[in-house]
Formats: sequence, C-alpha cells, structure tokens
Amino acid sequence: MTRRLPFTLTPLPGESFESWTTAYARRLRVTTSELTRALGLTADPPPAVTTPLTVADATGLTPRTFAAMFHPPLPDLPPRTPDALRTAATAGRTSRFCPTCLAEHPGRFALAWQLRWTFFCLDHGQPLADRCPRCGSTQPVRHPSGRTPPGHCTRHVTAAATTTRCGFDLTEPPHPTCADPAAAHTAQQLIDRSLARLRLPPDATARHEALATLTDLTILAAHIATNDRPRRQRTPVAGDLRADTLLTAYQLLTAPTAGRPDDPLAPLVAHHSAGPRPLAVPESWKSASPSLTTRIAHSRDGFLRPIERLRHATTLPTLHPPTTDPTSGEPDPAVLRAARLPDQLWPVWTIRLLDDDSLEPVTFRPAAIAALLLPHSALRLNQITALVSDQITGGTVAHQLGKLTRGPAGSTTLRILTELALACDTHPIPIDYTRRRHLAATTELIDRATWRSFLGPGELRRGHRRRLDFARSYLYELLTDGNLAIASPPYRIVDPARRPAYHEFVLGMPAPLADDLTSHAHALLLHAGVTDEPLRWAPPAHWVHTHDWPGADLEHTDPAPIHDLLTRQHRSPQQVAETLHMSTEHVRQAVRLHPLPRPLYPTHRAGAILPLHPDTSQQHKPGIHYVDPTWLHEQYVTWKRTLADIADEIGCVYSTLRAFAEKHGIPLRPSGGSHHIHTLTGTHPSQLPEPLRSALTGHQAHLRLERFTMIVRHSNLTRAAEEAGVTPASLSEQLTYLERVCGGTLMRRHHPRRLDSPTELGQALHLQIEAHILHDTTSHP
Ligand SMILES: [Zn+2]
Ligand SMILES: [Zn+2]
Repeated sequence: MTRRLPFTLTPLPGESFESWTTAYARRLRVTTSELTRALGLTADPPPAVTTPLTVADATGLTPRTFAAMFHPPLPDLPPRTPDALRTAATAGRTSRFCPTCLAEHPGRFALAWQLRWTFFCLDHGQPLADRCPRCGSTQPVRHPSGRTPPGHCTRHVTAAATTTRCGFDLTEPPHPTCADPAAAHTAQQLIDRSLARLRLPPDATARHEALATLTDLTILAAHIATNDRPRRQRTPVAGDLRADTLLTAYQLLTAPTAGRPDDPLAPLVAHHSAGPRPLAVPESWKSASPSLTTRIAHSRDGFLRPIERLRHATTLPTLHPPTTDPTSGEPDPAVLRAARLPDQLWPVWTIRLLDDDSLEPVTFRPAAIAALLLPHSALRLNQITALVSDQITGGTVAHQLGKLTRGPAGSTTLRILTELALACDTHPIPIDYTRRRHLAATTELIDRATWRSFLGPGELRRGHRRRLDFARSYLYELLTDGNLAIASPPYRIVDPARRPAYHEFVLGMPAPLADDLTSHAHALLLHAGVTDEPLRWAPPAHWVHTHDWPGADLEHTDPAPIHDLLTRQHRSPQQVAETLHMSTEHVRQAVRLHPLPRPLYPTHRAGAILPLHPDTSQQHKPGIHYVDPTWLHEQYVTWKRTLADIADEIGCVYSTLRAFAEKHGIPLRPSGGSHHIHTLTGTHPSQLPEPLRSALTGHQAHLRLERFTMIVRHSNLTRAAEEAGVTPASLSEQLTYLERVCGGTLMRRHHPRRLDSPTELGQALHLQIEAHILHDTTSHP
C-alpha cells in the first residue's frame, strides 16, 4: 500500500516524467530516488507505463496524466525503416531545450525535447538548443540530484586541475537561431503531425504516409549531414537529425522543382564516379518512400541502365511515382500487366520503335514486352521475364534494350515504352490475351478438311502437311498476337531453318486465303463464346505523347510498292526492305495487313521457269530455272538453236521452255521444220564456222554432212550412193540442198551425174566437218 503524498504536483502539459519527478522531489525536499520509491516505482530501470496505480494512490494523478509523461510505444516499424529513424523516434538519454520555455517554467523539460525529431519550439518560433552555450555539453534527461538547480547546466567541467559543475543558466543567451523560422515552423508541424499519426493506430493509410514522410526526412537529413564526410564515415547517427539538417531535408523534400533538371536533390544523389553503371536507388536510399525513390532515380537518369530507367520511369518528363506500394501486399504491377498483355510487343509498336534490321524481331518483341512489365515493378528482372516466357532470360532483355537504346533515339524509345506501360494500366484493353492463349492451347485451331477447303485445286501439292502446320501457327498469331518461338508446342517454330519457310508461307499467301483464315479465326472466337472482342488490336498511338517516333507507322504504309517489288520483280523481303528504307519486319507486317492480290509464285513448282532480271539482285529459289527472255530469243531466233537443245543446256523440261517462250512472245518455228541448227551437245552455233553452221540447219543435217564426206571421198556419185545405201538421184538431191543452204557450189561438175573435185567452199566444209563433227562424234560416242 502506497502512502498518499502530502501534496500533488500536476505535470505541465507535455512535460517529461524525469522533469516532473525532479521538480516534485525538490518541492517535497526529498531526492528523486526517495520520491520514486514513495511512488512505488523503481528508479532504474525507468518505470514502466503499465504501473501507474500506485502512483494514482500516492498522488491522485489519473493514469492518463501519468502516461502522458512517457513516449507511447512505437508500432512495429517495417524492416526497411532506417536505424536513424528508429533511434530518433525513441527517447534518448539527453534532451534539447528551449531557453525561453525554460525561462517561463524554470527547470521544467518537455517530453518531446528528448526526441531527435523535435528541433524547433512552435511556441517561441526558435530552434531548440542542443547544448549548453558555455561548456558545449548536452543536457541529460535525468537531472542529477545535487546543488545545481534544474534548468542549469549539470555537466562537470575541468579547468586548472579542478572539476566543478558548469551550472550555466540555460535560459541565458546566446539562444540558437534559424535561417528560415517560418519553414522550420512548418517542418516541425509536419514532423509532429506525422509522429502523432505514427503512434495512433486507427488509420493504416495515414500511418503509412506518416512513416513515409518521417523516413524520407530521416534519409535526407542523414545524407545532408554525412555527404561531406569521407565515404567510410557516412553511416548516419541519430545526432545527424539537427535543426539545420532537418530543415534542409524538409526544404528538399518539398522543393517545387522536384524531378526537374534543377532539382536541389540532384547534387546529393547524382554523383557517380566511373565504373559499372550504378543502381537507380543506392543502398543508402533504399528505404525512401516511392515518391522520393522516383525522384532519386530521376536525378540519376543519366547514369542508369535501360532496365533501371524503365523500372523507375525516369525518362518521363515529369515525376511519376508508383501508386501502389510494394510492401502493401498488393500484386506487383508487372504481374497485373503481364496478365493483360500479349507475350510480345504488338507489330505496329515494334515498327514504331525500330524500323531497321538491327534487332531480330523474334527476340526483340518478347524482350520489349518484358520492358513493358518493368515500370514500377519491384520484381527482379528474371522474375519479370518468367512472366513472359521461360524461354527468355533477363540477360536477353538487357542486351536487346541496350542495343535499342544505344542510338540517339534511346531515351525516346524508353519514354515511349514507359508511357505505353503506364497507359496500359489505366486504359481498358479490349482483348483478353490470357483467354486467347488458353483457347489456342486447348483447340486444334484448324483441321485438315477445313484447310483443304480453303485451297484452290492447284494449291494441293507437295508440302501440304507442313503448310497445314503453318496455317495453325498463323491462326495462333492471329488470335494471341503471340510469339511462335515461345508458343506452346503445336504452334511453336523454334528451328531457325523452319522460320524462313514459315515467313515465306505467310508472305506468299494470296488475299483470298488470308481472308479465309481470318474468317476462320473469327469463327473460332464465336465458337468459344467470345463475342465482344475485336480479332486483333493494338494500343492506339495517342496513348503515348511523342512527335519523334523512332520508327515508321505500319498502319500508314502504302502496300503498293511492296506488292510490286515482291510479285512483279520477285525481290526478297530483305531486298524490298532495303529498297524502301524500312525493316524486313515492316515489309512482312505490311503484307500481313495487305495480303498479296495473287500468289507470290504462281508457277512455283520444281522445274518452273521464271524470267531472269539480269540487272537486279533477284532472289533465286532452289528448283526454279531463271531464264532471260532476251537471251532465249537470241538463241532461238538468231542462232536457230532448237528448243530441245536449249532446254538441254538449261536443264529444264522442253514443254516448260516452250510455254515460257510462247508467253514471252518468241515466234516458234513449226516442230520438225528445216530451220533449226542441229549442233552437237556442248557446241554453240556461234562457235561453228561457216559454211558448216548453215549446213547444220534443217532436218537430218548430220546425215547429210556424213554423206557429203562420202561424195568427196569417192568423187563419184554412184559409188558414194552405193556406200550410203541410197539411190544416186537421192544423193544428188541432198547435195543440191546442201549447196543451197551453204550458199554456193560444193562440188565441180562435168556432167550433172559426174562429179569432179570439191570447190573451195566444198573443201572448207569438208575440213570443218572433219574438225568439228567427226572429231566430236569420236570423242562423244
Ligand atoms: Zn519555447
Ligand atoms: Zn554548461
């Protein structure tokens, strides 16, 4: 049972327990420890707030009045709360003081002065004093009993080998001053309000905000205090929270130029020495609130890797802090976004960002989607890529973005990606891509019979099965806007050798077939009960505010020149891209938007003949013959070669060459006629001398020449006819024919039936026959 004390000293509003007991003990003329014993409290450790009943018995003070003299217990602070904040929010062993307050209430100290957070007296508009102006000592919270009255410096000072109490009257000048009392006043009000909210549990959001404010102020004040120190001594301490540092921190935190190039925060965070690229938010700033974190990253934008620039949205012209807090337990923005996006960047956006062939779209497009997941996400890069596909890695994304942003348009590209990502969070997306992917994964998409029904009779040819697979992959792309390299197995095209064949399939698809497949995709959606979605969609351009798009606009691409180069000039997509100064992907996607009016290769069977354009870099396809019509004309008309001979040389089929010649307006001679030149294989007519060349014209030219050699040998028509096994009349007729085509007499005649010797022309022909024909015959049996 506690004895009732003779009188009660009511504590001043906001007074500390230590101040009250000191004042009370002095009035009772006892020591502080005698008083606390009388109150039923132990002096050391300090009394617990939970034991005021004996105090109430002894003094008549209500438990509430008693409890107000202690700091209420702190709520559980998040693990990332900086140590300086933990220390600052709990009472220290020393106390600041307002000299004017001390003058009004001699020796009475406020509880709040014990906090490192309290630096300014709101009543007197002046900073609190940290130390005794005379000896420079801090003042202890517990006043030592003794002769020094409260309100006077209690510290010992040693001078001339003797130690005495300083005893300075702390109400005496000089009083601390402040550069901007109005700002300090506001700052202290903000701190007091935040502290009150931090301690009062009811509103979680208000508590969260209060903690964020106090954390930011602590971090800022600590950096201001330690920034000039050597790197190793930068660990902040509670003492770094002073009037000057807290006031500067408050002014930095509320600066109107936050996030702008002249942000006063920048000098504090943006320094970076050479070496590896720094983090957007250095370790010492890690616990800052989302808004301060955004500002720090913004100030360091110039040093950062693309991944970090995206994550903290540093390329936006204005600060854009995340609206959700990663510690609040809400899903990460990347997770939410991934569920609403396709697994690769939309084609139109791919081309807007990049319209050259420097990056392979099959890798770049999923990397760009991973980039879209980055803004405001707290996930690690590999966790983010896993949301896209297990086939791509963070390293790939970093590499692709590095290459993308290395050019002068790098910042623009990142800004577009950032704006697009944040716009996706706030705008409706009319396609449920997750459902589409599920539909593709659980359906065959097209069966053999349906596919066959889309094909003309001429299109059912070799490669049919592969083309059906390609049609399925094409439908997968139509429905999901997904990437075939990372698609589920039936649609996946990983083999780099198969990819060009697929591109060719899509590129060469005539409009009617493309229309059929599009209608089929619509039907698949209807069948799956999807009635309220467009088949395909991409975010509109106005979601992003830019006038300097790095790439071109696919939707405004004129397909006519592309069609012309592909179908009439048989250029490859790469050549078309080069000619039209766009990316190959741009060509491919433009053809998807505007399919070719007719199939790309109408006679694209093995052995077909296509016109050769000698002056262009035409792409040659295996199994196809390329023939220049002008050349064919020359061979056939000028040199009188046979089509069979020419077909032999080309290696094509005679009838195909004949059709090709007809198509290109070459006047065909009647077959078996007498106007061809019959050379031996391998000898071009241009290599034969006259009159042999002319002698080779016509049917049975070789036989005729063979008989001419008999005539020359025998110089006698009858004996030559006997050797040849024909009548002399017939042989004479053949000689006459030969003389006509050679343009002169070959044999001198005494009588029509009696031959003498060869003329000069005949001699020449005979020698030529021996040199070219007989020689060739023996060497090529
Ligand atoms: Zn005061
Ligand atoms: Zn002193």
